Amino acid sequence: MKLRDIGEFGFIERISQGCLIRPDNVVKAIGDDAAAFKTAAKQITLVTTDLLVERIHFLRKATSGFSLGYKALAVNLSDIAAMGGTAREAFVSIAVPEDCSIQYLEDIYRGIKSLAAEFDVNILGGDTAHSTVDLILNIAVTGIVSKSEILSRDKARTGDVIFTTGFLGDSRAGLHLILNDIETRSKKHRDLYEAHILPHPCLREGRYLASKKLIHAAIDVSDGLSADLGHIVKQSRVGAAVYAERIPISQNLQSFSQKFHFDPIEFALAGGEDYVLLFTVAASDASRIAHGYQKQFNKPLFAIGEITDSGSIELIDREGNTKPIIPSGWDHFKSY
Ligand SMILES: [Mg+2]
Repeated sequence: MKLRDIGEFGFIERISQGCLIRPDNVVKAIGDDAAAFKTAAKQITLVTTDLLVERIHFLRKATSGFSLGYKALAVNLSDIAAMGGTAREAFVSIAVPEDCSIQYLEDIYRGIKSLAAEFDVNILGGDTAHSTVDLILNIAVTGIVSKSEILSRDKARTGDVIFTTGFLGDSRAGLHLILNDIETRSKKHRDLYEAHILPHPCLREGRYLASKKLIHAAIDVSDGLSADLGHIVKQSRVGAAVYAERIPISQNLQSFSQKFHFDPIEFALAGGEDYVLLFTVAASDASRIAHGYQKQFNKPLFAIGEITDSGSIELIDREGNTKPIIPSGWDHFKSY
C-alpha cells in the first residue's frame, strides 16, 4: 500500500493513534490548525529541530523505518538533554517519495513512539508532503527547564574538569560496518551497530547534572569530541587539554580497531553521533559530581581533561607529548 491509496488524511488518522503520551497539558493535539499546549511560568521553553534527508543522512535500503524514526527523535532529545531540559512535545514532518510503502512509514512512527513513550513526549502534529525521489524527515521537539538550571556551551572556566557521560567512537565504528556491508550479528559488532542506529539520549543524565547547579558548560556529542569541545572552547573563550588515554573507548571499539586497523582515538575525536554529554565543572566540585552520578546511575563519568586559557585544544598522549587538535567533526556544509 502506498500513500496515495489512503491519502494524507487517512495517513494522519493511522499514525495519530498512540501519539498522546502525556495529555495533561495539551489543549489541542493532532487535528486542529495548530497544536496548543500549556507551559508554566518561571520556566524556559526549549525548541530544537533536526532534518534528515535520504542519501545525505541515511540510506533507506540500509535503514529500517523503526530505527530511522527512533534516531530522528533521539537526536532531538539529545539536544534537550544538553540544555538540562525535560522533553515535552514533538512535531514530525515527512516528505514521502512514490516508492515508499505505508509499512515503512508506519515503522518510522513506531520507532518515534517507542522512544517518545520512554521519555514522556507527546507527538502533537507535523506535516506530510510528496517528494519526487528522496524521503525527508524533520522532527521538532520542545522542552522545558527552569531558569536557574539551564545549561549552555558558553560558561566553561579555566581550571574546569571536562567530563563525558559515556564511550566515544562506537557510533562511527557502527557506521563503518553499515557502509562496508560487514556482518552485525555477532555481539561485538551488534553493540557498535546499535550505537549508530539506536542512540539513547541522555535526558535523565542531563536533568540530573543540571539539577546540581554546578555544571559550567555542556553540549551533546553529535559532531565528534573535537568539534563539540571546540564549540564549548570557542563560545566560552577558553582552551582545553584532553588526555588521549582518558578518552573512554569501549572494549568493542578496541577490538574493532585492532581488526580493521583504525585508531580508536581518531574515531572518538572526529566520528560523531555518540550522543553522550560533554560538560565542564569546577575542579573543586568534580569528585562530588562524579560520585553522585555514579551512585545515581550506577555508571561512571569519564574525566578526560581540563579547560585551559590557551584558546585552542591540545591532545596529550601517554608520553606527555602535546599536539593541537583541529576541530574536525561533521560539518554539513564543509563536508562537500
Ligand atoms: Mg547538540
